[in-house]
Formats: sequence, structure tokens, C-alpha cells
Amino acid sequence: MTARIISGTEIARQITEEVRQEVENLKTRHGITPGLATVLVGADPASQVYVGAKAKACANLGIYSERHDLPSNTSEAALLELVEKLNRDPRIHGILVQSPPPPHINESKIIFAIDPRKDVDGFHPVSVGRMVIGEPGFLPCTPHGIQVLLERSGVNTEGAEVVVVGRSNIVGKPIANIMLQKAKGANSTVTICHSATRDMAGHTRRADIIIAAIGKPKFITADMVKEGVVVIDVGVNEIGKTTEGKRILVGDVDFDTVKEKAGAITPVPGGVGPMTIVMLMSNTVRAARMAAGLD
Ligand code: NAP
Repeated sequence: MTARIISGTEIARQITEEVRQEVENLKTRHGITPGLATVLVGADPASQVYVGAKAKACANLGIYSERHDLPSNTSEAALLELVEKLNRDPRIHGILVQSPPPPHINESKIIFAIDPRKDVDGFHPVSVGRMVIGEPGFLPCTPHGIQVLLERSGVNTEGAEVVVVGRSNIVGKPIANIMLQKAKGANSTVTICHSATRDMAGHTRRADIIIAAIGKPKFITADMVKEGVVVIDVGVNEIGKTTEGKRILVGDVDFDTVKEKAGAITPVPGGVGPMTIVMLMSNTVRAARMAAGLD
């Protein structure tokens, strides 16, 4: 069997058009322009690329955005002050503080300071708590993007054995929580594996759906999966550069061999990656609707 390729690029494009229409509707019918503020401390090149991509996505959709790019020696107090200011700013519906901040800043303290109504990244404990108990709220963008990928590509998750490899707060734990909710597009039996898991392959071979968020190139190999499995590869690992200096990226799954056994699989790049930013845009529009009492 050669797997069906689940194209995140294509699904993200569809959702982008839906978000665009929603932005248009908010502007013309309600006079509201959704607004996102991004905050970046320091000059980490990858973070600069991510923040730039978010600003570009906002511009493409007609979402107001402002960038706060601060020097790496910005104090925690100054950063908290900026977050407070953005919390009060009515033009801003979503606040995103790019991770990771420099080591002298306590990231949790910054996340906790964001008004939960503007927590479009979904990392505030209020958002996390709502997610865990199945109340509506902001879901973190990458895990929510994974769920939407599964739904829109027609994968039945009801009662499915889902094995999540990785337990980070930004991917592994939230996607496991999302998939076990008694809800449409979820209702799965979830197992979470991590570095202390004994017999990893014993778990992954039972899986109907594997979600790999490990950060290790080609970690999941064909002998670790069963025929027909659906594989969502969250990993983004640079394994070198082309002669033109372009980064060579691979996922956490050995795509070439696993695709011969899987029923469906996401590629890297072009799988989960494109979903993350579009879910952020969707959360920002939702925050604007909520601020106006429309949701
Ligand atoms: P992370 O915080 O480093 O977490 C990695 C997880 O994998 C940890 O729970 C770790 O276990 C587990 N792990 C590491 N080595 C393992 C091993 N040998 N066996 C079993 N488990 C192992 O990473 P993350 O932030 O979740 O990101 C994971 C990957 O997804 C990275 O490649 C990242 O770049 C990518 N990512 C992509 C997107 C996107 O938009 N496409 C977004 C976020 C992340 P312990 O907890 O026991 O240490």
C-alpha cells in the first residue's frame, strides 16, 4: 500500500479562504477589524522568521497586526508592562509572545499575564483548563491544526487508537487532550509516549493514528507501524543544507519507508506546518468576535 498524502498546504489554503471571508464579514457588517500583536524579544533568526510569517498572514487576510520587536536585554518588568498595555488596547484582540524568550525572562510569568480573552496561542492556564474539561476556548494552534487536518481529510477518530509520541506542553499534551474529548473529531483512545516509555514500538504498532512530535529526524520507522495507519508528522528537523544553502527539513517519521505501509501520511514540509499559522489567524478572528459579543 502507498499512503494517501494529507496535504496541510491544501487544507490550510481552504481555511485561509474561510477566515478571509469571516474577516470581511466582521469589517463590513460589524465595523470590526481583528487585530494581532506579536512580541519578540531578541534576534533569534528562526523566531524572526516565524513572527514575520505571522505578520504576512495577517496582511494577506486584512487582519490588523503590529510587531513589537524588542532588544534581547529587555527586562521582564518591561515585557510585562507591554503585555499589560496590549491587554488594554481595544485594537488588539490577540497577543502572541514568541517563544522562547531569552533565559532571564520567566516565560510562564509572561504567558500568565496575557488576558485569557486575548490568548490566541492557547497557552494560558485558563485556556489549557478549558481545553482539558472540554469547554470552548482557544486551542493551541499546532494541536488544533492537527485535529482539523484529520477531520478535513476524512479520518475517523471515533474510538480510534491514537498514539502520541512526545509530551511537550505545546504539542504532545494538548493534542492528547483534544483527541480524548467526547466530541466530534475526537473521542479516541489515547496513549502518550515519551523518553521513559518502555517498548515504544509495542505502542505505535497498535495505533490507528500516530502523532509524532519528538524532534528527532526519521525516528518512527516502518517496522514501528501497522499497515493502514494514519501518520501525522509534527517534527521539523534540519538535517543539512542544499548546495544553494537552502535548509533540508525532515520530519520525525521516516516518510519514504512509512508511506509504503501507511494508509495516509502528512509530508514535511507541507503537512502540519502550514496549519499552525492559519489556526492562529482563526483564533484571532474568534477573539475579535468574542470581544464584540458575537460569539
Ligand atoms: P519538545 O518540547 O522537545 O518535546 C519532545 C518530546 O519528545 C518530549 O516529550 C520528549 O520526551 C519526547 N522524546 C524525545 N526523544 C524521545 C525518544 N527517544 N523516545 C521517546 N520520546 C522522546 O518538542 P516539541 O516542541 O513538542 O516539538 C516536537 C517537534 O515538532 C519538533 O521537531 C518541533 O520543531 C516540531 N514542531 C512543529 C510545529 C509545526 O508547526 N509544524 C510546531 C511545534 C513543534 P520527554 O518529555 O521524556 O523528554
